[in-house]
Amino acid sequence: MGKERDNQERAMKLIILDRDGVINHDSPDFIKSPAEWIPIPGSLEAIARLNQAGYRVVVATNQSGIARGLFDITTLNAIHAKLHAAAQLVGADIDAIFFCPHAAIDACDCRKPKSGMFEEIGKRFKVNLKGVPTVGDSLRDLQAGFNRGCTPYLVLTGKGEKTKATGGLPPGTQVFPDLAAMVTAFLKPGSATSAPSGTTGAQPA
Ligand SMILES: [Mg+2]
Ligand SMILES: [Zn+2]
Repeated sequence: MGKERDNQERAMKLIILDRDGVINHDSPDFIKSPAEWIPIPGSLEAIARLNQAGYRVVVATNQSGIARGLFDITTLNAIHAKLHAAAQLVGADIDAIFFCPHAAIDACDCRKPKSGMFEEIGKRFKVNLKGVPTVGDSLRDLQAGFNRGCTPYLVLTGKGEKTKATGGLPPGTQVFPDLAAMVTAFLKPGSATSAPSGTTGAQPA
């Protein structure tokens, strides 16, 4: 029990990722089928490295293509089955995929930049989201997480270059070329971005 005395809030290492443009290539025409879901090179391996470092990886993704009638939940499930299978091939595990099926006109609480999915993740995993890293390629991804206390990371894949050029990022946003580079920096021992994991500090008697 002693060694767990300070770990109530830090017990779970969690990271929240956007899907399109972060894990897989995005498309202006939406990802409407498993065939259109193509991973960005290195992204699944990066998730595996997070897992190996003790992180549980969760996805939060806007999928308004459902509200628009471009694909249905069954197809979305098939896309995510492909995602999970491709991840497993490289030893990566994604704990859960939270998605918003609505369009902007539905005025739901889950469509990013609203924070509903992040709140659900916090509840489901019983974790305080303060300081939890979140990675996205669009401003709304970062806003949704930032508003719940997450630490924002922008990747330049997907819409990321355009997002960076437009500016207005939440304060403290760190920018990386892609998820693989973000994870490399994040997991680097002693890096400002990495979570403390017993490197220094008081030792229990
Ligand atoms: Mg995206
Ligand atoms: Zn929604």
